Amino acid sequence: MKYLTLSFDDGTVQDRRFVKLLNKYGLKCTFNLNSGLFDNRHDITHEGILVNHDEISASEVAELYAGHEVAAHTVTHPNLLQCSESEIIHQVRDDAEALGKLCGYKIVGMAYPGGPYFNDETIRVITGNTDIFYARAVGSHFTFGFPERLMAWYPTCQFHPSQYAELDRLTDEFISYKGDGDLLFYLWGHSFELDKFGNWDRFERFCDKIAGKDDIAYVTNREVAERVRQGEVSAH
Ligand SMILES: [Zn+2]
Repeated sequence: MKYLTLSFDDGTVQDRRFVKLLNKYGLKCTFNLNSGLFDNRHDITHEGILVNHDEISASEVAELYAGHEVAAHTVTHPNLLQCSESEIIHQVRDDAEALGKLCGYKIVGMAYPGGPYFNDETIRVITGNTDIFYARAVGSHFTFGFPERLMAWYPTCQFHPSQYAELDRLTDEFISYKGDGDLLFYLWGHSFELDKFGNWDRFERFCDKIAGKDDIAYVTNREVAERVRQGEVSAH
């Protein structure tokens, strides 16, 4: 089987439009949210243009992300390498608990805020003190491999202008693969960057191209992680 999963961070207001697109095409995504930043008002400037970085409200989480997965991204998005052990526990456990209350299910995954800011000690603290059993890092490997370590899970590629050429190549390769092995296509990004780089059309073309295939399972990160943990999928 081929598995496609998406992972998008920060819970900005562009997720509303993004989720509509995913639902139109039947794609599944895991959304990594900061429970301490709901309703945060913030803009960023890119090439002289103001990009909205407002965050959604707590009250819309359950309905907006229904059918997808909500995962942790810490309470306030700190660099975890600069946090004490108790602060790491607070940032991850309290975020997961707050999000779990909003969604009505246990939160078991996360994405590290800022991407590369974790190490073996961070993993030890998180797995020893929370229900988190998988965590996404940043750094594309441009393959369809499954993670060797669920707590240091690197994606296939990022939806970002610097990786469009790889994304296009990988999308065609993934769709045309007819072998026996299990493949995982793991795409991550930020929905506010679709505003930032004006690439909503490109994202919709990706959805249109990859959606509706009989030999692709459209799943959340959690569904992949559970299969990996149970040894149900194998690297090709
Ligand atoms: Zn983030």
